[in-house]
Amino acid sequence: MQESSKKAKSSSVKQTVKKTQPKTVRVYSKKISDEEFARMSDFFERYGRCRHSFLNRYCGIKSMLAVNNWQALRNQVRKWDKPVKGSKGKLETVYNFQTKHWVGALREACANIKSMWSNLANRLKKLIQGNENLSADQRHLLFFILKFKSAWQAVLLHKPIELPEEYTEALTEIEAKLTDKQIKQAHSYLRRITYRYHYRARKSGKLGSSMKCDLNWAFEGNTFSFSSDVPRKQFSVEMTSPWSYPRTGDITVVLDRIKQRLEVHKLISSKRYSNDSKKAIGIDKGLATLLSCSSGNEYGKNFSKLANAIVDKYGKRNANRQPYMSLRWQLNQQLEQLEKANQPLSKTALRKKRKLLGKLKNLEQNNIGRKSYEKSYRSAQETVRSFISCAINRMIEKEHPAVIAKEDLTFVKEKGVKSDNSRLARKMRKRLNSWTKGQLDERIVYLSSKNSIETHDVNPAYTSQYCPICGQHFEERYGSHHELTKCKKCGEMNANIAAAKNILSRLTDEEITLYTPYKRVKEILASRIKEA
Ligand SMILES: [Zn+2]
Repeated sequence: MQESSKKAKSSSVKQTVKKTQPKTVRVYSKKISDEEFARMSDFFERYGRCRHSFLNRYCGIKSMLAVNNWQALRNQVRKWDKPVKGSKGKLETVYNFQTKHWVGALREACANIKSMWSNLANRLKKLIQGNENLSADQRHLLFFILKFKSAWQAVLLHKPIELPEEYTEALTEIEAKLTDKQIKQAHSYLRRITYRYHYRARKSGKLGSSMKCDLNWAFEGNTFSFSSDVPRKQFSVEMTSPWSYPRTGDITVVLDRIKQRLEVHKLISSKRYSNDSKKAIGIDKGLATLLSCSSGNEYGKNFSKLANAIVDKYGKRNANRQPYMSLRWQLNQQLEQLEKANQPLSKTALRKKRKLLGKLKNLEQNNIGRKSYEKSYRSAQETVRSFISCAINRMIEKEHPAVIAKEDLTFVKEKGVKSDNSRLARKMRKRLNSWTKGQLDERIVYLSSKNSIETHDVNPAYTSQYCPICGQHFEERYGSHHELTKCKKCGEMNANIAAAKNILSRLTDEEITLYTPYKRVKEILASRIKEA
């Protein structure tokens, strides 16, 4: 009885515990031109040499503690590197790049050395565990010492161990169980195995081909840029896909010398569910309802309301700007006429021109300034983004898929959901819609990879036009958001969910692959009706 309740408890824990695990996501560049590649290769090589020199300089026992605080080391190096302010630093001259690059190389070297020491500690613990010549108390002592780098370093340098008070007591307690000879023996064993396995300075063999960047990198659409050896001139590379992951923090840029391309890696933490699902779902993205799933569930249903509210707000704002815009247009026209009329301009004409220019400047600064407008547009974007993330997270939680099939971000559906009154409101809606589409796709990829879910793009052709049950062509769409449709055989159904089901079946469709042309897809679909 007791046992079964224990079992139930542990299994319920197992289901709710979500382990997070680090995961590297990657984006690749297209092939880089020979000239650009040569520049990059040279730069990565110099960066690698610089990192290697730091690695050699600080991998010793004396720097064991110093590498924990790389900023302090950086300040030390700075003093030595550039004794006179305003002059070019030694490292900049030697490696011919910018200050931030040697700082980055130092930071990376410190991180490497730190992890090297903790890997070594783990290795030594195993050796100590397996050494039968040591007594249990001696092993206990060495495990304790390996917990504190300062204690470890003190033993290696034959110095007395200094620890914070609360730990000193524990150490004395452990040592009380041992004779002096036993302690000495344990210490010398630790020294021996440390020296045997610890990383030593060595010659750099490999060409540098990776670089960590914390700041100074950006993605815009498919273009990735990061700082180059020349100030104010970034490397800019076309990638094969846009960036769907956080835009801050560390990334690693890797130069693939064989394929002549760049890879961008980022470590993200992803959840891993203990009960691994194998479920695949299809999703149809939309602007009225954000996500329609092949399971029949929908998420982000009220999105059109939110979007309408935003567009209305900006429509009004734009309407208020309208008279000023037309005034600007008039002034520009006058200016143009003035300049066309007679050259060179007479004195009165010049005066008039100055006056017009002044008025225009005033107008642009005070009445149609873009700054506050852009600021509130960004806050609207923020609202939309959190709405999108919320919908995707609910979908992941409820559907619990292992694989998501979707269309890529170039989907074009839902034309004229609502006719707006003003031209500017329409413009605003267009802007918001296209941003939302990109954002929706990006968030799906990111949140999926965070949850260890695979995403696959499938061929988007005609997914919303044929019945997923019998393959018949749908009749007209209707409903307030064109969300309903009819199949001659199967009757009324939700067109978005039907599309999601079609998208899911594309995942395993051997005839219609991602690259099958539209026309061919239509022929295939038509032939399937006849067969049925
Ligand atoms: Zn049907």
